[in-house]
Amino acid sequence: MNNNGIIDHTKLYRLPWTLPDNAISWLEPTALCNLHCDGCYRKNENVHKSFEEVKHELDIFQKYRTSDCISIAGGDPLLYPEIVELVAEIKRRGLKPIINTNGKALTRNLLKELKKAGVFGFTFHVDSKQGRGSEWKGKNEVELNELRYRYARMLADVGNIACSFNSTVYEDTIQYVPDLIHWAHRNIDIVQTMVFIAFRHVVPNLPFDWYAGGQKVNWDEIMYHSESKRNVDILSTDVLNKVRERFPEFTPAAYLNGTVKPDSFKWLLTERVGTKKKIYGYLGPKFLELMMIVHHFFKGTYLSYASPKLTRKGRASMLLLWPFDKGLRKASKNYLKNPLRLFKKAYMQTIMFIQPVDFTEKGEQSMCDGCPDITVYKDQLVWSCRLEEQVQYGTWLTTVPKKNE
Ligand code: SF4
Repeated sequence: MNNNGIIDHTKLYRLPWTLPDNAISWLEPTALCNLHCDGCYRKNENVHKSFEEVKHELDIFQKYRTSDCISIAGGDPLLYPEIVELVAEIKRRGLKPIINTNGKALTRNLLKELKKAGVFGFTFHVDSKQGRGSEWKGKNEVELNELRYRYARMLADVGNIACSFNSTVYEDTIQYVPDLIHWAHRNIDIVQTMVFIAFRHVVPNLPFDWYAGGQKVNWDEIMYHSESKRNVDILSTDVLNKVRERFPEFTPAAYLNGTVKPDSFKWLLTERVGTKKKIYGYLGPKFLELMMIVHHFFKGTYLSYASPKLTRKGRASMLLLWPFDKGLRKASKNYLKNPLRLFKKAYMQTIMFIQPVDFTEKGEQSMCDGCPDITVYKDQLVWSCRLEEQVQYGTWLTTVPKKNE
C-alpha cells in the first residue's frame, strides 16, 4: 500500500493515455466567461479567436495527437459566436465535440442546434464558488443539485447527449462530495459522469519562490493566485477517504499518475453499475482495460466520454463480460440475487477525482502524466491548467523552496 495507505496504484489500471495518443484534447476558442469562478486559472477577457485560428489549432492537434474527443472550453464556449459551426467542424473531422460550460448561456433552442451540429456531450461546471447570481446565490453544493438536475433533464429530453458535471473541491466543500455522489446515483439514468477537481492556486502559504527562466517573479502577479492563505494540497485520496466514510465499498479502478510521483492519483476513475435504487457494484481494472483496448483496436482512439446508449448497457456488461473482471463478477452476483431484475435496465456511471499540479519538497511540479487536457499555444501542445504562464511569461514557471523555510 502507498499514497495515504488507502489504495495501491499497482493494483489499478493505468489509463493508457499519452501525449501523442490520448482520449481527450482541450480547445479554447474564447477567453470570455459570464461567471468568475473562484478556482479558475484563465484570465476572463472579451477575446474570441477567429474561426480560422481555431481550425488551425484543430490541425495542430490532429498533426500531433490522436484524440477521441475535443473538450471545447474557454472562457465559456457557449459565448463563442461560432460555437454551432465549431461543433459541426469537430464532428466533420471525426472527433467527438464535448462542450465544457457553466451552462448559463444554454437555452433549449441552442441545445437543439448543437445537437443537430453533432455535439456528443456536455460537461457542466457547477459549484458553490462561481458567483452565480439570482436564485443560486448563497446555495451550497447540495442545494445546487436542483440546477444540476435542470441541465441533466434538458439534455435527456433532447436525447442521446452525454451528461457530465464537474465541481472544484475546496477544503470547506469536500464534505459535500458524498452527497453529490449520492445525487448522481439517484440520477444514474441521465448523468453519465461526475468529476471532482481539487482546488489549486498560487497562495502565500506555498513555501516556494517563483522563477521565469532566471528571473524571479512575484507570486501575487501570477494570474491564478489567491491573496489569502488557503489549502491547495487536497489529494484524490482525501476525496476518496471522504467518500468512503459514507460509501465504504466505493472502489476506483483506473488512474493517471503524476510526472514526478508515480504513486499519485492525478486522475482517479471509479466506474459503477446499478439502477436509480441500487448500486450493484464497482467495475474493476480489467473492465477498464478491456474498454480502452477494444475501443482503440476498432476505432483507433482511447475511449473518452461514453454515450448514454453505451452506459445503458450495464445489464449486458454484467451478463456477458463477468468472466473478465472481478468487479463485474461481484456486481453480477448482486444483480442476479433477484431474477426479476433481469427485466430492468442497469446503467454505468463514471466518478472521477482530479488532482492538479503537486509540488515536491524540492519544488518540482508533478503534472498529470499523459495529460488529457492539453491545449495548443503558439502551435505547441501545452498544459491548459498552466497556459497563463506561457501567456504572461513566455515560459513555464519553476519553483524553488524559499531559503528560510
Ligand atoms: S496537467 Fe493540468 S491540464 Fe493536464 S490534466 Fe492535469 S490538471 Fe488538467
